[in-house]
Amino acid sequence: MRLDKLLANMGVGSRKEVKQLLKAKRITVNEAIVKDNGMHVDPEHDQVCVDEELITYQKHIYLMMHKPPGVVSATSDKRDRTVIDLLSADEKKFDPFPVGRLDKDTEGLLLITNDGELAHRLTSPKKHVEKVYIAYISGEFPENIMEQFQEGLTLDDGYQTKPAKLEIVNKQSNKVKVTITEGKYHQIKRMFITVGCKVTYLKRIQMGNLQLDESLPIGNFRPLTEDELQYCK
Ligand code: URA
Repeated sequence: MRLDKLLANMGVGSRKEVKQLLKAKRITVNEAIVKDNGMHVDPEHDQVCVDEELITYQKHIYLMMHKPPGVVSATSDKRDRTVIDLLSADEKKFDPFPVGRLDKDTEGLLLITNDGELAHRLTSPKKHVEKVYIAYISGEFPENIMEQFQEGLTLDDGYQTKPAKLEIVNKQSNKVKVTITEGKYHQIKRMFITVGCKVTYLKRIQMGNLQLDESLPIGNFRPLTEDELQYCK
């Protein structure tokens, strides 16, 4: 990896600022002063210091976002703002992406990382990772709605859903909790359409063992704690 990219990614400064630090002989690699910003270093093994302070290389970034409605979970979009647009330049340097998709109008837990392996583990259909949602529903629930969710529903395109868990949280306000282990396009909305109802609000609160930190204001994000990161592994 280029030395100036590594230092810029670690937040030492822009590539231009790094160039100035090099010129001022303030950067060493394995204790030798370096002047070449294009020098290649092994971030895992070479000891890079700025003013004699060791720069610890961080390869991956793991952020918990409380996704707001109105932004799309993609890295770029022609029309809409994306969840990546909500990050600052420091986080964007890691080329992060959202793990799985939430609809534009869905809120809640979204993991953002540049760790492809971890993302695969959490989203691969073979891993059956549980995703838990809170939803408000309009329309009358059929008597046996819980059994229907448990048995699997046939969606509009003929897809047979895997067993899902439905809990009625509040009968009066039609608030429910739904747990699914897959992530088909608009899955929860389509499951409720199948039983003659409509989702009016949807929020993801859990993915595997990772829970949304409800103290995280909507639209904000923060790094995962060590414990939270272990839940994802
Ligand atoms: N199911 C949906 O319908 N929408 C989402 O955003 C997530 C699950």
